[in-house]
Parts: sequence; structure tokens; C-alpha cells
Amino acid sequence: MGEDMDSIFYSTPRFVIQEEMLIKNLEILKKVMDDTGCKILLAQKAYSIYQTYPLISKYLSGTTASGIYEARLGKERFGGETHIFSPAYIDAQFRQVLEYADHVVFNSVGQAERFAHEAKQHGKSTGLRVNPECSTQKGHAIYDPCAPGSRLGCTIDQLEDAVKNNAKFSRDVMPLIDGLHFHTLCEQNSDDLETTAKAFEEKFGKYLRDMKWVNFGGGHHITRGDYDIERLERIITHFRDEYDVQVYLEPGEAVVLNAGIFETAVIDIVHNGGVDIAILNSSAACHTPDVIEMPYTPPVSGAGKPGEKKYTYRLAGCSCLAGDVFGDYSFDEPLKREDKVVFEDMALYTMVKTNTFNGIPLPPIYYQKGGVAEAIKVFGYDDFESRL
Ligand SMILES: *Cc1c(COP(=O)(O)O)cnc(C)c1O
Repeated sequence: MGEDMDSIFYSTPRFVIQEEMLIKNLEILKKVMDDTGCKILLAQKAYSIYQTYPLISKYLSGTTASGIYEARLGKERFGGETHIFSPAYIDAQFRQVLEYADHVVFNSVGQAERFAHEAKQHGKSTGLRVNPECSTQKGHAIYDPCAPGSRLGCTIDQLEDAVKNNAKFSRDVMPLIDGLHFHTLCEQNSDDLETTAKAFEEKFGKYLRDMKWVNFGGGHHITRGDYDIERLERIITHFRDEYDVQVYLEPGEAVVLNAGIFETAVIDIVHNGGVDIAILNSSAACHTPDVIEMPYTPPVSGAGKPGEKKYTYRLAGCSCLAGDVFGDYSFDEPLKREDKVVFEDMALYTMVKTNTFNGIPLPPIYYQKGGVAEAIKVFGYDDFESRL
């Protein structure tokens, strides 16, 4: 039984990236670029499966990186423009930043003072991330860069103080800055962008007049069915025309929204305290850590909310962590060993965050084109051992 190669346990768990949905998203994003002249970058922190970069790079202008290795991956595997932002650059890595990135965004006056000169000497475009101090997020405080006490972005008070009272900054550094960057959204629609853009403009508009570009960051759920693209395009063209700047967007999620699934299978059913628990051959802690960290409950194909259908189960992972739980769901039929469980919308913030905690293997990554899914990455023991 355990050696049956046709068994569900040989074909799962696995991630499957779905080309058809990916292309659908890319066409939506490309249209926004064509309509407005904006440039859209892939935020690699959400999705870095570089085997698909040849396709994505046919549509988008480049990549943005949150760390040095993402910058290198973007430069080497994607091409186009390579942008980077870091809350603070590590001095020993800055040479490498300059090797891979062509747009370098600083988080503070101090960071710009330290590095802007060197970046300009190397022919880079430089930016300053600002904090419009305009919270539009309800749920997830850890994803709100405008939350009180945030370290992300330079506030208007900090910038004005430096411009007025720091002669060296205003004379030698500020003129080196080519663009302003803000990133405040997470899975939001263009009404929240509009609110944010207004706050940004009121505070920082006068500085934008001297700039070449503005970057609206990520968190725009542009490819979601109910997203108001017309409003997004109005906001972009307003900035383009009023300030004569190149507008950038750098979504991660929107590029691969609904473009992948995570296929798993039930290996055991246990019951405790009236809860029916299906243990899967995968782990939320290892394979979809955002489910626990964010936290959120991913959609499961054919399943309803707890109690909605006849049989309710807690879907749980196979690590030793007590909280290794995907969520509670209901099904039309009782679950049993070898049943397949498919999590949807699993291309984003999954494969970039997997880990081998507990010595649990990494699921292979498949690419589905037409009806056929082919493995593009298979992991083994070496991937576990090599990090230890
Ligand atoms: C996270 C992040 C993004 C991408 O955000 P999504 O929510 O995946 O669209 C873009 N820019 C910056 C600076 C980020 O931190």
C-alpha cells in the first residue's frame, strides 16, 4: 500500500502554478501600463519562482527587491529594471546592492545621507520612501506601515526638519534624490489608494515637483474581480500629468492572485473534544506559514465555512506544532485517509516562505500549462541539510 506509486501520497503535497491565470493577471496589468504609461514591477517577496520570469517579463517592466538576494535574482533572471528598498542597508552589502539594483530607495534621511552619494556615483536612480501617515487598513496591524511608531518611511516632519535644519542634507543630499516612494496598502482597492495618494500629495507634493518618478508601492489588488481599475488609472494619470513624473507600481500579490494551488492529502483523522481533525501530509507552519502568521484561512476547493456543509473538520498539519492548523472547513462527505485537499490562491507568499522545520520535506513546484502539470522544482534531503 505504502509503496503504491499511484497513491495520492506520491503526487502530493505539491504546489501547482497555473499559467492560464497568471497570463490573465499579466494582461490586466499590462493594460494599466499601456493605458497610463506607468511601469509595473513584480515585488519578488510575494513570488520569486524565476522559472516563470521569462513569461512575466514579457509583460512587466522589471522587479523590486526587499533584500540583496531578491535584487540579484531579479537582475539575473528577470532583467528589465531592478529596484530595491530596505528599511536600512547593511554597509557590507551596499556594494552588492549597487551591483544588482538600478533604483535604490532609502527609508530615512540618515540612510540617504549615508548612501545616496555612492549610489549616484554608480549611476543609480535614488528614491526616498516616505510615510504619508494615512492608515487605510482595518485588519492587519503588522501589515500597516502607517501604524503609530512605524519605522517605515520618512514622515513629513522628519523631512522638513532635515530640509530646514540640516544644511548638509538640504544642500548635498536632497538634490540627489530622484523619486519618492510610498507603500501603505495590503490587499486593497483603489479607493484606499486614492485616500492615501491625497494625503501623500498634500504633504509631499511640493517635493515631488523636483522628482523624476513616484512609486505607489504594492498592496494594490488590481487583478481581483471587484478592483476599480478606472480609478487607479485616474490616479496614475493625475500624478503623471500634474508632476511630470514616471509612475511605478510594484504589486506582488496581484501578479499571481489565484494563479496557483497547493494540493495535499489526508493521512489520518483524529477526534478530540468534539472536534474532528484531518491531519494532512503537509504543514501550515512549514508550507504556508502566512496562514499562521498573518493569520488567514485559505479557501479550499469544494469546502464551506465550518457548519455550512454537513461534515466539519479542522485541517491540520503534520508538524509537531500544536498550532499547525490551516483552518476549520465543512464538506459534503466525511473526510477519509487518501482524500485530496486542495488549497486555492496559493501562489503568493507561500513558496517564498516555506521552511523545513521539523525536517519536513519541501513540496515540489509544478507548472500547469493547458492540461499538463510539469515539475519545475523538486527538493530533497540536501535542501534541508545544506542550511544547517
Ligand atoms: C510587500 C511590498 C510590496 C508588495 O506588496 P503586495 O501586497 O504583495 O502587493 C511592494 N513594495 C514594498 C515596499 C513592499 O514592502
